[in-house]
Amino acid sequence: MLGLRKRHAGVRLPSAKTVADVALTEIPAPQNVYIPLQQHIGIAAEPCVKRGDRVLMGDPLSMSDHPMQVPVHASVSGKVRSITEGVLPSGRLGTIVHIENDGLYERRETSGRPSPHDYTPEEIRKAVHEGGVVGLGGAAFPTSVKLNPKKKIDTLLINGCEGEPVLSADHRAILELTDLMLYGIQAMQIATGAERVIIALEDHDPDGAEHLRKEAKGIAEVVVVPAVYPVSGEYTLIKAVLGRRIPIGGLPADVGVVVQNVETAVAVGRVLRDGWPLTRRIITVAGGDVERPGNYYVALGTTIADVLEHVGCPTPRQVLLGGPMMGQAVPNLDIPVVKGTSGIMALSPAEIDVREPLPCVRCGQCIAVCDKGLSPMMLLKYIQNGEWEKAEEWGLRTCMECGACAFVCPSNIPLVQWFKSGKATLSAKAAPNSKGS
Ligand code: SF4
Ligand code: SF4
Repeated sequence: MLGLRKRHAGVRLPSAKTVADVALTEIPAPQNVYIPLQQHIGIAAEPCVKRGDRVLMGDPLSMSDHPMQVPVHASVSGKVRSITEGVLPSGRLGTIVHIENDGLYERRETSGRPSPHDYTPEEIRKAVHEGGVVGLGGAAFPTSVKLNPKKKIDTLLINGCEGEPVLSADHRAILELTDLMLYGIQAMQIATGAERVIIALEDHDPDGAEHLRKEAKGIAEVVVVPAVYPVSGEYTLIKAVLGRRIPIGGLPADVGVVVQNVETAVAVGRVLRDGWPLTRRIITVAGGDVERPGNYYVALGTTIADVLEHVGCPTPRQVLLGGPMMGQAVPNLDIPVVKGTSGIMALSPAEIDVREPLPCVRCGQCIAVCDKGLSPMMLLKYIQNGEWEKAEEWGLRTCMECGACAFVCPSNIPLVQWFKSGKATLSAKAAPNSKGS
Protein backbone atom coordinates (compact mmCIF):
# COMPACT_ATOMS: atom_id res chain seq x y z
CA MET A 1 0.00 0.00 0.00
CA LEU A 2 1.37 3.37 -0.95
CA GLY A 3 1.48 6.20 1.53
CA LEU A 4 1.07 9.73 0.24
CA ARG A 5 4.13 11.88 0.44
CA LYS A 6 4.63 15.28 1.95
CA ARG A 7 1.97 17.79 0.98
CA HIS A 8 2.95 19.82 -2.04
CA ALA A 9 2.37 23.52 -2.68
CA GLY A 10 -0.45 24.60 -4.96
CA VAL A 11 -3.94 25.80 -4.32
CA ARG A 12 -7.23 24.17 -3.29
CA LEU A 13 -9.70 25.28 -5.94
CA PRO A 14 -13.43 25.30 -5.41
CA SER A 15 -14.85 22.15 -7.04
CA ALA A 16 -16.69 23.03 -10.23
CA LYS A 17 -17.09 19.61 -11.87
CA THR A 18 -20.64 20.45 -12.81
CA VAL A 19 -20.89 17.89 -15.62
CA ALA A 20 -19.02 15.02 -13.96
CA ASP A 21 -22.25 13.02 -13.85
CA VAL A 22 -23.18 13.68 -17.47
CA ALA A 23 -22.59 10.50 -19.51
CA LEU A 24 -20.60 10.58 -22.74
CA THR A 25 -22.54 11.41 -25.89
CA GLU A 26 -21.44 12.05 -29.42
CA ILE A 27 -21.52 15.30 -31.34
CA PRO A 28 -22.29 14.24 -34.92
CA ALA A 29 -19.42 15.00 -37.29
CA PRO A 30 -20.16 18.16 -39.30
CA GLN A 31 -20.34 18.66 -43.07
CA ASN A 32 -16.69 19.76 -43.19
CA VAL A 33 -13.74 18.82 -41.01
CA TYR A 34 -10.37 20.59 -40.97
CA ILE A 35 -7.60 18.30 -39.79
CA PRO A 36 -4.17 19.84 -39.05
CA LEU A 37 -1.15 17.67 -39.78
CA GLN A 38 0.57 19.15 -36.73
CA GLN A 39 -1.31 18.05 -33.62
CA HIS A 40 1.55 17.05 -31.35
CA ILE A 41 4.89 18.16 -29.94
CA GLY A 42 7.29 17.38 -32.77
CA ILE A 43 7.17 17.77 -36.52
CA ALA A 44 4.23 17.28 -38.86
CA ALA A 45 4.41 14.12 -40.96
CA GLU A 46 4.17 14.48 -44.74
CA PRO A 47 0.68 14.32 -46.25
CA CYS A 48 -0.12 11.04 -48.04
CA VAL A 49 -3.35 12.26 -49.68
CA LYS A 50 -3.98 14.92 -52.30
CA ARG A 51 -6.81 17.20 -53.27
CA GLY A 52 -9.68 15.26 -54.82
CA ASP A 53 -8.88 11.93 -53.09
CA ARG A 54 -11.71 10.03 -51.46
CA VAL A 55 -10.85 8.87 -47.94
CA LEU A 56 -12.49 6.47 -45.52
CA MET A 57 -12.78 7.05 -41.80
CA GLY A 58 -9.53 5.97 -40.20
CA ASP A 59 -7.43 6.40 -43.36
CA PRO A 60 -4.06 8.06 -42.71
CA LEU A 61 -3.75 11.60 -44.04
CA SER A 62 -0.05 11.81 -43.22
CA MET A 63 2.66 9.23 -42.60
CA SER A 64 6.17 8.93 -41.28
CA ASP A 65 8.30 6.32 -39.53
CA HIS A 66 9.96 9.01 -37.43
CA PRO A 67 8.64 8.76 -33.84
CA MET A 68 8.35 12.56 -33.51
CA GLN A 69 6.30 12.79 -36.73
CA VAL A 70 2.96 11.39 -35.63
CA PRO A 71 0.43 10.57 -38.40
CA VAL A 72 -3.11 11.97 -38.42
CA HIS A 73 -6.21 10.20 -39.76
CA ALA A 74 -9.51 11.01 -41.41
CA SER A 75 -12.32 11.37 -38.88
CA VAL A 76 -15.05 11.10 -41.55
CA SER A 77 -15.34 9.54 -44.98
CA GLY A 78 -15.48 11.94 -47.91
CA LYS A 79 -13.48 14.01 -50.39
CA VAL A 80 -10.28 15.90 -49.69
CA ARG A 81 -11.25 19.41 -50.77
CA SER A 82 -7.98 21.19 -50.02
CA ILE A 83 -4.62 20.93 -48.29
CA THR A 84 -3.68 24.47 -47.35
CA GLU A 85 -2.10 26.56 -44.64
CA GLY A 86 -4.36 27.71 -41.81
CA VAL A 87 -4.37 28.80 -38.18
CA LEU A 88 -3.86 26.04 -35.61
CA PRO A 89 -5.25 26.15 -32.05
CA SER A 90 -1.75 27.18 -30.90
CA GLY A 91 -2.12 30.36 -32.99
CA ARG A 92 0.66 29.20 -35.33
CA LEU A 93 0.20 28.43 -39.00
CA GLY A 94 0.21 24.85 -40.24
CA THR A 95 -1.02 22.56 -43.00
CA ILE A 96 -4.69 21.64 -42.70
CA VAL A 97 -6.53 18.93 -44.66
CA HIS A 98 -10.12 19.90 -45.41
CA ILE A 99 -12.43 16.90 -45.91
CA GLU A 100 -16.01 17.26 -47.05
CA ASN A 101 -17.99 14.68 -45.12
CA ASP A 102 -20.08 12.47 -47.46
CA GLY A 103 -22.27 11.37 -44.56
CA LEU A 104 -21.61 7.68 -45.27
CA TYR A 105 -19.13 7.13 -42.41
CA GLU A 106 -17.48 4.32 -44.32
CA ARG A 107 -14.71 2.90 -42.20
CA ARG A 108 -11.36 1.58 -43.22
CA GLU A 109 -11.00 -2.12 -42.43
CA THR A 110 -9.02 -2.69 -39.29
CA SER A 111 -8.09 -5.52 -37.00
CA GLY A 112 -6.60 -5.75 -33.55
CA ARG A 113 -5.68 -8.48 -31.11
CA PRO A 114 -7.82 -9.67 -28.20
CA SER A 115 -5.14 -9.39 -25.52
CA PRO A 116 -2.33 -6.87 -24.95
CA HIS A 117 -0.12 -9.89 -24.23
CA ASP A 118 -0.43 -10.82 -27.91
CA TYR A 119 1.95 -7.94 -28.69
CA THR A 120 5.69 -7.49 -28.23
CA PRO A 121 6.91 -4.11 -26.86
CA GLU A 122 8.15 -3.15 -30.32
CA GLU A 123 4.81 -4.02 -31.95
CA ILE A 124 3.00 -1.91 -29.34
CA ARG A 125 5.15 1.16 -30.04
CA LYS A 126 4.79 0.74 -33.80
CA ALA A 127 0.99 0.38 -33.63
CA VAL A 128 0.67 3.32 -31.21
CA HIS A 129 2.73 5.52 -33.54
CA GLU A 130 0.87 4.45 -36.68
CA GLY A 131 -2.44 4.93 -34.85
CA GLY A 132 -1.55 8.57 -34.21
CA VAL A 133 -1.67 8.39 -30.42
CA VAL A 134 -0.29 11.34 -28.46
CA GLY A 135 -0.73 12.40 -24.83
CA LEU A 136 -4.35 13.44 -24.48
CA GLY A 137 -3.91 15.17 -21.14
CA GLY A 138 -3.07 18.35 -23.02
CA ALA A 139 0.64 18.06 -23.80
CA ALA A 140 0.19 15.97 -26.99
CA PHE A 141 3.65 14.44 -26.71
CA PRO A 142 4.10 11.39 -29.00
CA THR A 143 3.07 8.37 -26.92
CA SER A 144 5.29 5.83 -28.70
CA VAL A 145 8.32 7.89 -27.65
CA LYS A 146 7.26 7.81 -24.02
CA LEU A 147 6.77 4.07 -24.34
CA ASN A 148 10.40 3.69 -25.38
CA PRO A 149 12.23 5.04 -22.33
CA LYS A 150 15.99 5.15 -22.46
CA LYS A 151 16.28 4.48 -18.73
CA LYS A 152 15.01 1.68 -16.51
CA ILE A 153 11.41 2.28 -15.53
CA ASP A 154 9.98 0.78 -12.36
CA THR A 155 6.59 2.54 -12.30
CA LEU A 156 3.95 3.33 -14.89
CA LEU A 157 1.90 6.11 -13.34
CA ILE A 158 -1.54 6.63 -14.86
CA ASN A 159 -2.70 10.18 -14.37
CA GLY A 160 -6.42 10.26 -13.64
CA CYS A 161 -6.20 13.60 -11.84
CA GLU A 162 -8.10 16.13 -13.84
CA GLY A 163 -6.78 19.16 -12.03
CA GLU A 164 -8.58 21.77 -14.09
CA PRO A 165 -11.85 22.69 -12.42
CA VAL A 166 -14.83 21.91 -14.67
CA LEU A 167 -13.14 19.34 -16.95
CA SER A 168 -14.45 15.81 -16.42
CA ALA A 169 -13.63 13.93 -19.63
CA ASP A 170 -11.10 11.70 -17.85
CA HIS A 171 -13.63 10.94 -15.12
CA ARG A 172 -16.14 9.73 -17.71
CA ALA A 173 -13.46 7.69 -19.51
CA ILE A 174 -12.61 5.96 -16.22
CA LEU A 175 -16.25 5.07 -15.60
CA GLU A 176 -17.44 4.32 -19.13
CA LEU A 177 -14.39 3.08 -21.05
CA THR A 178 -12.80 0.99 -18.33
CA ASP A 179 -12.04 -2.11 -20.42
CA LEU A 180 -10.29 -0.19 -23.17
CA MET A 181 -8.38 1.85 -20.60
CA LEU A 182 -7.19 -1.26 -18.74
CA TYR A 183 -6.20 -2.91 -22.03
CA GLY A 184 -4.15 0.20 -22.88
CA ILE A 185 -2.58 0.30 -19.41
CA GLN A 186 -1.44 -3.32 -19.65
CA ALA A 187 0.00 -2.69 -23.11
CA MET A 188 1.90 0.35 -21.83
CA GLN A 189 3.27 -1.70 -18.94
CA ILE A 190 4.53 -4.30 -21.44
CA ALA A 191 6.10 -1.60 -23.62
CA THR A 192 7.86 0.22 -20.77
CA GLY A 193 8.83 -2.85 -18.77
CA ALA A 194 7.50 -1.17 -15.61
CA GLU A 195 7.25 -3.48 -12.60
CA ARG A 196 4.16 -1.86 -11.20
CA VAL A 197 1.29 0.35 -12.28
CA ILE A 198 -0.36 3.03 -10.17
CA ILE A 199 -3.51 4.92 -11.15
CA ALA A 200 -3.67 8.26 -9.34
CA LEU A 201 -6.98 10.07 -8.80
CA GLU A 202 -7.87 13.23 -6.94
CA ASP A 203 -9.88 13.02 -3.73
CA HIS A 204 -12.84 14.78 -5.36
CA ASP A 205 -13.38 11.65 -7.49
CA PRO A 206 -14.44 8.96 -4.98
CA ASP A 207 -16.66 7.23 -7.60
CA GLY A 208 -13.73 6.79 -9.95
CA ALA A 209 -11.50 5.46 -7.16
CA GLU A 210 -14.12 2.99 -5.92
CA HIS A 211 -14.83 1.81 -9.46
CA LEU A 212 -11.16 1.26 -10.28
CA ARG A 213 -10.37 -0.48 -7.00
CA LYS A 214 -12.75 -3.21 -8.19
CA GLU A 215 -12.07 -3.16 -11.92
CA ALA A 216 -8.31 -2.68 -11.94
CA LYS A 217 -7.59 -5.29 -9.26
CA GLY A 218 -4.51 -7.28 -10.23
CA ILE A 219 -3.58 -4.72 -12.90
CA ALA A 220 -2.94 -1.48 -11.01
CA GLU A 221 -2.89 0.01 -7.53
CA VAL A 222 -5.22 2.97 -7.04
CA VAL A 223 -3.93 5.98 -5.14
CA VAL A 224 -5.97 9.02 -4.14
CA VAL A 225 -4.16 12.35 -3.83
CA PRO A 226 -5.49 15.61 -2.36
CA ALA A 227 -7.01 17.78 -5.08
CA VAL A 228 -4.50 20.59 -4.60
CA TYR A 229 -3.97 22.25 -7.97
CA PRO A 230 -1.81 21.48 -9.98
CA VAL A 231 -1.29 17.94 -8.68
CA SER A 232 -2.17 16.69 -12.17
CA GLY A 233 1.14 18.00 -13.55
CA GLU A 234 3.64 15.17 -14.09
CA TYR A 235 6.29 16.75 -11.90
CA THR A 236 3.89 17.36 -9.03
CA LEU A 237 2.09 14.03 -9.32
CA ILE A 238 5.31 12.00 -9.17
CA LYS A 239 6.33 13.94 -6.07
CA ALA A 240 2.91 13.49 -4.45
CA VAL A 241 2.57 9.76 -5.17
CA LEU A 242 6.14 8.47 -5.06
CA GLY A 243 8.05 11.18 -3.21
CA ARG A 244 10.51 11.46 -6.11
CA ARG A 245 11.66 14.81 -7.37
CA ILE A 246 12.51 15.20 -11.07
CA PRO A 247 15.78 17.13 -11.38
CA ILE A 248 15.55 20.57 -13.01
CA GLY A 249 15.42 20.09 -16.76
CA GLY A 250 14.88 16.35 -16.24
CA LEU A 251 12.14 13.94 -17.25
CA PRO A 252 10.00 11.43 -15.32
CA ALA A 253 12.19 8.64 -16.76
CA ASP A 254 15.11 10.14 -14.81
CA VAL A 255 13.35 8.97 -11.64
CA GLY A 256 12.19 5.64 -13.11
CA VAL A 257 8.67 6.71 -14.02
CA VAL A 258 6.54 6.99 -17.16
CA VAL A 259 3.34 9.02 -16.76
CA GLN A 260 0.37 8.54 -19.08
CA ASN A 261 -3.08 10.08 -18.97
CA VAL A 262 -6.22 7.88 -18.73
CA GLU A 263 -7.65 8.97 -22.07
CA THR A 264 -4.30 8.20 -23.69
CA ALA A 265 -4.59 4.70 -22.22
CA VAL A 266 -8.04 4.41 -23.83
CA ALA A 267 -6.60 5.48 -27.21
CA VAL A 268 -3.78 2.94 -26.89
CA GLY A 269 -6.35 0.26 -26.04
CA ARG A 270 -8.44 1.17 -29.07
CA VAL A 271 -5.48 1.06 -31.45
CA LEU A 272 -4.30 -2.34 -30.22
CA ARG A 273 -7.56 -4.12 -29.44
CA ASP A 274 -9.62 -2.78 -32.34
CA GLY A 275 -6.94 -1.58 -34.74
CA TRP A 276 -8.65 1.82 -34.71
CA PRO A 277 -6.56 5.02 -34.91
CA LEU A 278 -7.15 8.25 -33.01
CA THR A 279 -9.92 10.03 -34.93
CA ARG A 280 -11.95 11.55 -32.10
CA ARG A 281 -11.55 12.50 -28.46
CA ILE A 282 -13.60 13.29 -25.38
CA ILE A 283 -14.09 16.96 -24.60
CA THR A 284 -15.87 18.66 -21.74
CA VAL A 285 -17.94 21.53 -23.11
CA ALA A 286 -19.17 23.89 -20.40
CA GLY A 287 -19.46 27.51 -19.27
CA GLY A 288 -22.37 29.75 -18.45
CA ASP A 289 -23.24 30.40 -22.10
CA VAL A 290 -23.64 26.71 -22.95
CA GLU A 291 -27.21 25.44 -22.98
CA ARG A 292 -26.33 21.72 -22.94
CA PRO A 293 -22.98 21.34 -21.18
CA GLY A 294 -21.53 17.85 -21.02
CA ASN A 295 -18.82 15.40 -21.99
CA TYR A 296 -18.80 14.76 -25.71
CA TYR A 297 -17.04 12.61 -28.25
CA VAL A 298 -15.90 15.00 -30.95
CA ALA A 299 -14.45 14.09 -34.35
CA LEU A 300 -11.00 15.63 -34.78
CA GLY A 301 -11.20 18.53 -37.20
CA THR A 302 -14.66 19.67 -36.06
CA THR A 303 -14.56 23.44 -35.66
CA ILE A 304 -15.21 25.11 -32.30
CA ALA A 305 -18.18 26.83 -33.98
CA ASP A 306 -19.73 23.46 -34.90
CA VAL A 307 -19.23 22.10 -31.39
CA LEU A 308 -20.80 25.18 -29.80
CA GLU A 309 -23.70 25.19 -32.24
CA HIS A 310 -24.49 21.60 -31.20
CA VAL A 311 -24.51 22.41 -27.47
CA GLY A 312 -26.79 25.40 -27.87
CA CYS A 313 -24.27 28.22 -27.89
CA PRO A 314 -24.26 29.63 -31.43
CA THR A 315 -23.04 33.11 -30.46
CA PRO A 316 -20.53 32.79 -27.62
CA ARG A 317 -18.96 35.85 -26.02
CA GLN A 318 -15.61 34.50 -24.88
CA VAL A 319 -14.33 30.99 -25.55
CA LEU A 320 -11.45 29.21 -23.86
CA LEU A 321 -9.76 26.09 -25.22
CA GLY A 322 -9.01 23.98 -22.15
CA GLY A 323 -10.12 24.58 -18.58
CA PRO A 324 -10.45 27.81 -16.63
CA MET A 325 -6.89 27.66 -15.19
CA MET A 326 -4.78 26.91 -18.26
CA GLY A 327 -7.29 27.54 -21.05
CA GLN A 328 -6.39 29.88 -23.91
CA ALA A 329 -8.83 32.38 -25.41
CA VAL A 330 -9.53 31.43 -29.03
CA PRO A 331 -9.04 34.14 -31.65
CA ASN A 332 -11.80 32.77 -33.87
CA LEU A 333 -14.30 29.92 -33.88
CA ASP A 334 -13.06 28.32 -37.13
CA ILE A 335 -10.22 26.69 -35.24
CA PRO A 336 -10.57 22.90 -35.25
CA VAL A 337 -10.65 20.48 -32.35
CA VAL A 338 -7.31 18.62 -32.26
CA LYS A 339 -5.82 15.78 -30.24
CA GLY A 340 -4.73 18.16 -27.47
CA THR A 341 -8.13 19.81 -27.00
CA SER A 342 -9.45 18.71 -23.61
CA GLY A 343 -12.21 21.24 -23.07
CA ILE A 344 -14.14 24.15 -24.53
CA MET A 345 -15.52 26.82 -22.18
CA ALA A 346 -17.99 29.43 -23.42
CA LEU A 347 -18.04 32.01 -20.66
CA SER A 348 -21.02 34.05 -19.57
CA PRO A 349 -20.52 37.73 -18.63
CA ALA A 350 -20.37 36.75 -14.95
CA GLU A 351 -17.48 34.36 -15.69
CA ILE A 352 -15.40 36.77 -17.76
CA ASP A 353 -12.69 38.43 -15.70
CA VAL A 354 -12.79 42.16 -16.46
CA ARG A 355 -10.56 43.33 -13.62
CA GLU A 356 -7.59 45.46 -14.64
CA PRO A 357 -4.15 44.32 -13.45
CA LEU A 358 -2.60 46.40 -10.65
CA PRO A 359 1.07 46.74 -9.67
CA CYS A 360 2.72 43.93 -7.73
CA VAL A 361 2.43 44.51 -3.98
CA ARG A 362 5.12 41.92 -3.16
CA CYS A 363 2.75 39.93 -0.99
CA GLY A 364 4.52 36.64 -1.80
CA GLN A 365 1.32 34.64 -2.26
CA CYS A 366 2.44 33.52 -5.71
CA ILE A 367 5.65 32.10 -4.25
CA ALA A 368 3.72 30.15 -1.62
CA VAL A 369 1.61 28.29 -4.18
CA CYS A 370 4.21 27.54 -6.86
CA ASP A 371 4.86 23.83 -6.70
CA LYS A 372 7.93 24.21 -8.88
CA GLY A 373 9.49 26.32 -6.14
CA LEU A 374 9.72 29.36 -8.42
CA SER A 375 9.33 32.99 -7.49
CA PRO A 376 6.73 34.26 -9.96
CA MET A 377 7.13 37.75 -8.53
CA MET A 378 10.84 37.84 -9.42
CA LEU A 379 10.30 36.21 -12.79
CA LEU A 380 7.78 38.92 -13.60
CA LYS A 381 10.24 41.62 -12.63
CA TYR A 382 13.06 40.16 -14.76
CA ILE A 383 10.81 39.70 -17.79
CA GLN A 384 9.43 43.22 -17.51
CA ASN A 385 12.98 44.61 -17.20
CA GLY A 386 14.26 42.46 -20.09
CA GLU A 387 16.79 40.81 -17.75
CA TRP A 388 16.70 37.51 -19.65
CA GLU A 389 19.73 35.85 -18.10
CA LYS A 390 18.29 36.38 -14.66
CA ALA A 391 14.85 35.16 -15.74
CA GLU A 392 16.48 31.98 -17.02
CA GLU A 393 18.60 31.61 -13.88
CA TRP A 394 15.47 31.92 -11.75
CA GLY A 395 13.85 29.03 -13.61
CA LEU A 396 11.54 30.66 -16.16
CA ARG A 397 11.94 27.68 -18.49
CA THR A 398 10.76 25.25 -15.81
CA CYS A 399 7.45 27.07 -15.25
CA MET A 400 4.67 24.65 -16.23
CA GLU A 401 2.19 27.50 -16.85
CA CYS A 402 -0.27 25.99 -14.39
CA GLY A 403 -1.74 29.37 -13.43
CA ALA A 404 -1.79 28.75 -9.66
CA CYS A 405 0.23 31.95 -9.06
CA ALA A 406 -2.08 34.08 -11.22
CA PHE A 407 -5.11 32.60 -9.46
CA VAL A 408 -3.99 33.84 -6.03
CA CYS A 409 -2.48 37.15 -7.15
CA PRO A 410 -4.44 39.97 -5.45
CA SER A 411 -3.24 42.39 -8.13
CA ASN A 412 -4.73 40.23 -10.88
CA ILE A 413 -1.49 40.25 -12.82
CA PRO A 414 -1.69 37.91 -15.85
CA LEU A 415 1.46 36.10 -14.73
CA VAL A 416 1.09 33.12 -17.07
CA GLN A 417 0.81 35.37 -20.11
CA TRP A 418 4.01 37.09 -19.05
CA PHE A 419 5.73 33.73 -18.56
CA LYS A 420 4.54 32.38 -21.91
CA SER A 421 5.84 35.39 -23.78
CA GLY A 422 9.04 35.38 -21.69
CA LYS A 423 9.68 31.75 -22.58
CA ALA A 424 9.03 32.49 -26.26
CA THR A 425 11.65 35.27 -26.07
CA LEU A 426 14.16 32.93 -24.41
CA SER A 427 13.58 30.33 -27.14
CA ALA A 428 13.95 32.93 -29.87
CA LYS A 429 17.23 34.09 -28.34
CA ALA A 430 18.48 30.50 -28.17
CA ALA A 431 17.54 29.81 -31.82
CA PRO A 432 20.57 29.20 -34.10
CA ASN A 433 19.89 32.28 -36.25
CA SER A 434 19.22 34.57 -33.31
CA LYS A 435 21.39 37.66 -33.13
CA GLY A 436 20.88 37.71 -29.37
CA SER A 437 19.00 40.97 -29.43
S1 SF4 B 1 0.91 37.39 -5.84
FE1 SF4 B 1 0.88 39.06 -7.33
S2 SF4 B 1 1.03 40.89 -6.06
FE2 SF4 B 1 1.65 39.18 -4.76
S3 SF4 B 1 3.89 39.07 -5.01
FE3 SF4 B 1 3.01 37.69 -6.52
S4 SF4 B 1 2.86 38.93 -8.36
FE4 SF4 B 1 3.11 40.35 -6.68
S1 SF4 C 1 5.34 30.18 -11.81
FE1 SF4 C 1 4.63 28.73 -13.34
S2 SF4 C 1 4.71 26.75 -12.32
FE2 SF4 C 1 4.79 28.30 -10.72
S3 SF4 C 1 2.65 28.62 -10.10
FE3 SF4 C 1 3.09 30.13 -11.69
S4 SF4 C 1 2.45 29.18 -13.60
FE4 SF4 C 1 2.60 27.52 -12.07
